[in-house]
Amino acid sequence: MSKIKIGVSACLTGDEVRYNGQGSEDKFLNRELSSHFDFVKVCPEVGIGLSIPRETIRLVRKNDEVRLVNHGGDKDFTDKMQEFSVKSAERMKKERISGFVFKKNSPSCGAFRVKVYNEKGVTQHNGSMGMYAKHIQEKFPWLPVEEDGRLNDPGLRHNFISRVHAIKRWQEMVEDNLCIQSLINFHKTHKYMLMSYSQVGLKELGRLVANGDGKAIEDIAHEYLMKFTALTSKPAPRSKHVNVLFHLMGYFSQKLDDFDRKEIVETITRYKDGLVPLVLPVRAVSHYIKKFKVEYLLEQSYLDYPEDLCVLNRL
Ligand code: SF4
Repeated sequence: MSKIKIGVSACLTGDEVRYNGQGSEDKFLNRELSSHFDFVKVCPEVGIGLSIPRETIRLVRKNDEVRLVNHGGDKDFTDKMQEFSVKSAERMKKERISGFVFKKNSPSCGAFRVKVYNEKGVTQHNGSMGMYAKHIQEKFPWLPVEEDGRLNDPGLRHNFISRVHAIKRWQEMVEDNLCIQSLINFHKTHKYMLMSYSQVGLKELGRLVANGDGKAIEDIAHEYLMKFTALTSKPAPRSKHVNVLFHLMGYFSQKLDDFDRKEIVETITRYKDGLVPLVLPVRAVSHYIKKFKVEYLLEQSYLDYPEDLCVLNRL
């Protein structure tokens, strides 16, 4: 795979573009993810011509619409932000991003729980998205999206990174060569990743790939990608990882002597009981898959994780 690109709110890399003239560096993003991904940086507020520093802006509900305005309410940036978002989405498409990390709480960039005020300045709710982030998500509904802060949660971090890799593979395996065989290959490669989310979902996607119900390949691929996105939107639970690990073990269990079999079962059980992190049983299983050359499993995305990011070490 070529290097993965992800969109990033520029202030998270330390760029001093915020309303107060400062950056808001996210250390994990800027010091660890940056060695693994290329960042396509954007600051939508600077993009619409606002100065640094600047007056703060917020989302305000006016009649039936949510508008992006200054605190005094006499300047409305909604149209400019929408115009900018359209152009920026075009750039992200050209750059072929496979994920996006947004700055939390921002009326432009926040991806979850952004506040919306009424015209008197009272909070109506905090369940919105920033205006720019909303446009990006509508344009690319399959795009893995996270916020700084949330990436400190081991489950969300692992889920985001796995999904970004999966989207990158989708772009190179399926989009670049759209045919039923490439869709089948993608599905095979992600079999155990999907199983770690839902066995029912895995089967449903398998049926879609196998039958297609006489639909055009573009429609099957779109339906597959949207279902894949829905299925993987929340971190896989521990019990499902345990199920996957025992399934993988089934491929080489007969070849192990009693001592090694007992060892690996014990490692999986210790993970199930929360005594060791996921990286230990995954490494043990990978070791035997390589040792016994289980070809079918060598390409599984479930076992292809970036060791340098230690995503499995805290799961
Ligand atoms: S949150 Fe978004 S708009 Fe605000 S400073 Fe950061 S990149 Fe710019």
